[in-house]
Amino acid sequence: MRKPKLAVWKFSSCDGCQLSLLDCEDELLAVAGAVDIAYFLEATRARLRGPYDLSLVEGSITTPEEAERIRKVRSQSRFLVTIGACATSGGIQALRNFADVDAFARAVYAHPEYLDTLATATAIQDHVPVDFELRGCPVNKHQLLEVVNATLNGRRPNIPDHSQCVECKRHGTVCVLVAHGTPCLGPVTQAGCGNLCPACSRGCYGCFGPKEAPNTAALSAKLGAEGLGGRAIGHLYSTFNANAPAFREESQKHE
Ligand code: SF4
Ligand code: SF4
Repeated sequence: MRKPKLAVWKFSSCDGCQLSLLDCEDELLAVAGAVDIAYFLEATRARLRGPYDLSLVEGSITTPEEAERIRKVRSQSRFLVTIGACATSGGIQALRNFADVDAFARAVYAHPEYLDTLATATAIQDHVPVDFELRGCPVNKHQLLEVVNATLNGRRPNIPDHSQCVECKRHGTVCVLVAHGTPCLGPVTQAGCGNLCPACSRGCYGCFGPKEAPNTAALSAKLGAEGLGGRAIGHLYSTFNANAPAFREESQKHE
């Protein structure tokens, strides 16, 4: 029986989400046995021609070449899943969306005229239809395996969309916001990281992006009551997922 063809594509990104797949270690041989790895330059130079049954796409669209290439990837892919904050919201590089890209280029490069870049970094879904978005910076490897398994077996991935606060309650973690007044985006951030930051008495920075229907206004009011100034509140939302609509809109209210 023919094995499904898996392709892993990179756009503007740091490669961390692709590494999450390689980091699966114990499960990697099972994955490699269940699929033909048709295109995955981080792991192998071998390339099989499309079409592909499942494409995992990492990275945001920041150049005209990428905007063209993602359309070709989509046309060759039965299922297309975006992985990580860059691919699902534009990533940290989307901070350029709120600034003058030409001024940045002039400040950094001796010859900015050789750059061919767009003024914005945007999510893959802004360019082509996407079948599923997996959040995180980087993604959680267990969630990544679940998405690959579910997609190839014709079922919906079992990925929770509740907030990070639910994970704190499940793990018995003392709330850093209520107990210590530490700024925390947990109430508006989708769970999935494994409760990493609050478990270390650190506030959540929102690297898994907005949860479904996040009440950012209520959280900002609480942060203000804890003494955080207006721009500081805006800056909290302007990190890994600055271009995710819920975080972008709340950030802009605190300019
Ligand atoms: S520490 Fe943060 S994520 Fe955890 S319960 Fe408190 S506000 Fe929510
Ligand atoms: S607690 Fe928040 S910032 Fe920390 S890893 Fe989890 S989602 Fe990311």
